[in-house]
Amino acid sequence: MPRHPVSPPSPPWLPDLAALSRDGVRRQASLAPYTSFHIGGPAEYLAVITRLEHLLAALNLLHDSRTPFLLLGGGSNILISDAGVPGLTLINQCKKARWPEHSQQKEQSVIYVEVDAGAPLAGFARESINRGLAGLSWAVSIPGSVGGAIVGNAGAHGGDIAGALVNVRVWRSGQLETWSAERMAFSYRSSRLKGADADPAAHPVILSATFRLRPDADGQAATQATAAIQHRRSTQPAGKSAGSIFKNPPGDYAGRLIEAAGLKGQCSGEACISEKHANFIINRGQASAADVMNLINLIRHEVWRQFGVLLEPEILFIGDWRDGPTLTNPSH
Ligand SMILES: Cc1cc2nc3c(=O)[nH]c(=O)nc-3n(C[C@H](O)[C@H](O)[C@H](O)COP(=O)(O)OP(=O)(O)OC[C@H]3O[C@@H](n4cnc5c(N)ncnc54)[C@H](O)[C@@H]3O)c2cc1C
Repeated sequence: MPRHPVSPPSPPWLPDLAALSRDGVRRQASLAPYTSFHIGGPAEYLAVITRLEHLLAALNLLHDSRTPFLLLGGGSNILISDAGVPGLTLINQCKKARWPEHSQQKEQSVIYVEVDAGAPLAGFARESINRGLAGLSWAVSIPGSVGGAIVGNAGAHGGDIAGALVNVRVWRSGQLETWSAERMAFSYRSSRLKGADADPAAHPVILSATFRLRPDADGQAATQATAAIQHRRSTQPAGKSAGSIFKNPPGDYAGRLIEAAGLKGQCSGEACISEKHANFIINRGQASAADVMNLINLIRHEVWRQFGVLLEPEILFIGDWRDGPTLTNPSH
């Protein structure tokens, strides 16, 4: 009898989820194209969801079948392991915004806008400026989705999510809840949901968010946005990265410490510490997650050895790291 490879049986939720996903459910699909680093192994199952009602139906389906999952937005604040992510990964690309009528906008001093969490933050910020609204000009060049930005309390140029958010609609274990900004417990590049993906069996999901904006009476929002884009171009490298790798330690800058440690330009495989901004690691082509992790450990060890400062990663490490290098702690 000829031997044929036996495929594992399909999970029972697969056909229903496939109907809710843009391209069905793919097996062993590379996650690298869904990250700004362009690094990462395959998702065992991958579904891209583009409509909010589909996302909600998918979450309820997964809850009913007790299926753990990981949900990502723009993949711009993470490093996915070379072995990839076991189980199901959802990519949230639901991006509708509910703008008020122009006439309504003119009469009010505060304008509330609700947007789906999968919307690109930069695009939402630009659209708000085009509509004559102020409050998000700091966000015009931050990659990633609104949901990811809320989880990490993204910020730049003196602004951050905590300063503009009113509330979020959250799905958690089959329930819909509205959480105030206070309940999100924002702090520097963090919130109560940062790291929540570590428990795929109870992953709270931000469905949408309401922001507080105001009429841009003096036309300053567009000017501030242009200045923010120019500043970014002159200080940050282009190329495949995850932005700042480390949080700034109190009273200092991670980039300054890494540069002072003499590490600019150091490479591991095709991952290199940027010559332009030392807190950026650039994937020069085919860098692996292991290359990036090796550089991260080198930076942590050298900065600790030379200055006694332990740099904490801002990015999240996702997936199965059992076979690769993992984050080491030089202070132990
Ligand atoms: C070139 C570059 C420049 C950057 N500059 C800045 C900067 O100036 N300031 C700054 O703060 N950041 C910056 N970043 C980092 C990044 O853009 C932000 O952290 C961004 O907000 C992450 O959003 P995301 O959608 O990509 O999140 P992802 O990387 O997709 O996910 C991050 C985490 O959020 C979770 N998550 C995502 N969506 C949801 C949701 N809807 N519900 C629940 N959990 C969710 C994921 O599970 C994961 O744990 C930069 C990145 C790059 C590549």
